Amino acid sequence: MQKVPQFIAGEFVQSNTTNWIDVTNPATNEVIAQVPCATPDEMRKAIDNAGEVFKSWKETPVSERARVMMRYQALLKEHHDEIAEILSQETGKTFDDAKGDVWRGIEVVEHAANVASLMMGETVENVAREVDTHSWTQPLGVCAGITPFNFPAMIPLWMFPMAIACGNTFVLKPSEQDPLTPMRLAELFEQAGAPKGVLQVVHGAKEQVDTLLTDPAIRAISFVGSVPVGQYIYETGTRHMKRVQSFAGAKNHMVIMPDADKQQVLNALVGASVGAAGQRCMAISVAVFVGEAQQWIPELKEAMAKVRPGAWNDSGASYGPIISAKAKDRIESLIATGESQGAKLLLDGRGCTVDGLPDGNWVGPTLFSDVTTEMDIYKEEIFGPVLSCMNADNLGEAIELINNSPYGNGTSIFTNHGGAARRFQHEIDVGQVGVNIPIPVPLPFFSFTGWKGSFYGDQHAYGKQAVRFYTETKTVTSRWFSTEAASSEANFSIQLR
Ligand code: NAD
Repeated sequence: MQKVPQFIAGEFVQSNTTNWIDVTNPATNEVIAQVPCATPDEMRKAIDNAGEVFKSWKETPVSERARVMMRYQALLKEHHDEIAEILSQETGKTFDDAKGDVWRGIEVVEHAANVASLMMGETVENVAREVDTHSWTQPLGVCAGITPFNFPAMIPLWMFPMAIACGNTFVLKPSEQDPLTPMRLAELFEQAGAPKGVLQVVHGAKEQVDTLLTDPAIRAISFVGSVPVGQYIYETGTRHMKRVQSFAGAKNHMVIMPDADKQQVLNALVGASVGAAGQRCMAISVAVFVGEAQQWIPELKEAMAKVRPGAWNDSGASYGPIISAKAKDRIESLIATGESQGAKLLLDGRGCTVDGLPDGNWVGPTLFSDVTTEMDIYKEEIFGPVLSCMNADNLGEAIELINNSPYGNGTSIFTNHGGAARRFQHEIDVGQVGVNIPIPVPLPFFSFTGWKGSFYGDQHAYGKQAVRFYTETKTVTSRWFSTEAASSEANFSIQLR
């Protein structure tokens, strides 16, 4: 049985723990590896070594730090297919989708290679007589990241390349459900020439996360995961005086105006609701049909009925299994509540089977209509291939529905009316908005800007905001006495002259 190593003090080492968690292939439920729960000594060693290495890494010239990212980007591209294959096996994602997961991470590494211009400060000459002010951004110290199962390449790559390029050192605690991909990312990072100890990878669950949240040596915490854990992380981390960014769960609505292009709408809804088995924080889980657009629901049902899940290397499969048997049971029980609470079940994905893979966690495409805001299938993040259809009389009603949702990760509108699109963008209380684009995930030169209950904190992932998150601003005000204009008297007021 493959025992997943940790990456501590620059070495890939086996844990001394007696507490191991099984990693399964969700298409078969076979155990493919075991991941350790790091011991307190191992956690200590990783954090202390990250602190020690920070002293030299922060003095490493910014262009050298950028070059590590350039080499890393090239290596990730070279190994793109191989990483995607590992990722497919532990998550069940189709090979194409796994490649997309890796690619969206590579784009962040490319962005991190621009760190010198991203870290530039500001300067103003003559803020008072012979007085100039400039600002620098300096790294914080040891930062930590805790990542979810659903993007085991992209989300770790949202975090450590930006933090490390800024001059910090980083302790990553990846999801215990799919740790093999992040370990491969760490091996390639070492091969790219990152000095020993700049990145540490420890494994485990709540106990190890609690160490990161409370250890005084850790300055900042990046978290991505579910709502209850995200709230806990934000509350605990900030109570321990850390900077925290916590990306949490979601429930994303797509508004369909009657003037939209019907075929584009159907394609977008099918792909964005069941792609990756609905296990994306930006998946569309609610379709809001405005006015006559609701007549398209039968055709949506027809299109969704043609979609089938399957193995990662089955080119005819549109998506893979659910990550665990427990998550699959939860999805199926939520589908049951939808029926019992009065929604119309147009397509039922329960009891789904895939030829040759009888033990996988399969859920077929599932479609509800007549969903209301009181139902559990509306209130809960299902995180499965389940789409709920709702109706609104007009755009204003659709906007009000979305603005009343506690979540604010993503939303989109499909329309051919510029005025409707303009109003939607302006009035909607959601941080990432698509116009005729169902999953509007911004590229890394912008930031990933979820709002409301989908994000706790203020500076978001990647883009300029990540640089602000992982750095401290220092302003230097200096006076050089070069003329007689400088005062030779003591100044008792706070005002610079
Ligand atoms: P999760 O919250 O179960 O786990 C996330 C991480 O937290 C894992 O590393 C896990 O080990 C750790 N963890 C779990 N329970 C903990 C506890 N009680 N205390 C401390 N740490 C704990 O999430 P998941 O199931 O792996 O991921 C899916 C969730 O992530 C979904 O809710 C999804 O919407 C969300 N997500 C959000 C975004 C975003 O950008 N907003 C992106 C991806 C995923």
